[in-house]
Amino acid sequence: MKRLEVIGWWFNEQAPTELPRPQLLVDAAARAHAAPLTAYLRAGASLLRYPEPSFCRFACGEEDMGHADLTDGRFVWPEGLAHYVERHDVRLPEHFVNHALAQPLPLAPFALPKAKFGLYDSAPWVAWAKAQRACPDLHGFEIPTLDVLDRIAVDLGPVPHEAILACRGSSREVILAVEGGGIELHQLKAGGNPPQRFAGWHEWPLCGFGPQRARAPTTLSRRPKPGIPMGEFFANLKPQRDRQS
Ligand SMILES: [Zn+2]
Repeated sequence: MKRLEVIGWWFNEQAPTELPRPQLLVDAAARAHAAPLTAYLRAGASLLRYPEPSFCRFACGEEDMGHADLTDGRFVWPEGLAHYVERHDVRLPEHFVNHALAQPLPLAPFALPKAKFGLYDSAPWVAWAKAQRACPDLHGFEIPTLDVLDRIAVDLGPVPHEAILACRGSSREVILAVEGGGIELHQLKAGGNPPQRFAGWHEWPLCGFGPQRARAPTTLSRRPKPGIPMGEFFANLKPQRDRQS
């Protein structure tokens, strides 16, 4: 299967993984090619529609971020990516920008691939973003499944929190959303490290890079096997997200 290179997947504060925070990729120099680049981003063909609309990670109030993934047959990106370039001066990988600016619009017709798991390759995007120091360091953390959430809630007991965002089995640590928009790193074992508070994800340490930090990305516990239709998976995922938030 020919894979599509992912561009523009962002960190989600409610479901944290090692995807980049666009706030760390703001660059006024990106304005120079913003107009032709956003035109290209809007010209992609719709590959897949999600049940829930996307939202702006800058919380700027924009609500029309779209439901779809768009593709040009080589790359795939969320419909809302143009907004980040146009309104927030977010910088994208140079090889993608060069490719986009070299293509005539409208796009030449191409065969739209089937949206199946395994089609998307996000590794180059994450590697690029880590090299830009734009990714929170969440090595080993996972988004908890429903039964894991229940077990963590029992272990937490009276610890005040608004949501359990992520967990790391190897260190028995959980990341909690706490009152006032903060987050707390909490170790579940007796006599463990004292809780660490952060005012928000902007204070969380970032992924380093170099040989000793070359690690597998954070995984979603319910990561599906290649070949499963994406529409079906995301339709089933929604109840879990509702429960967590
Ligand atoms: Zn915005």
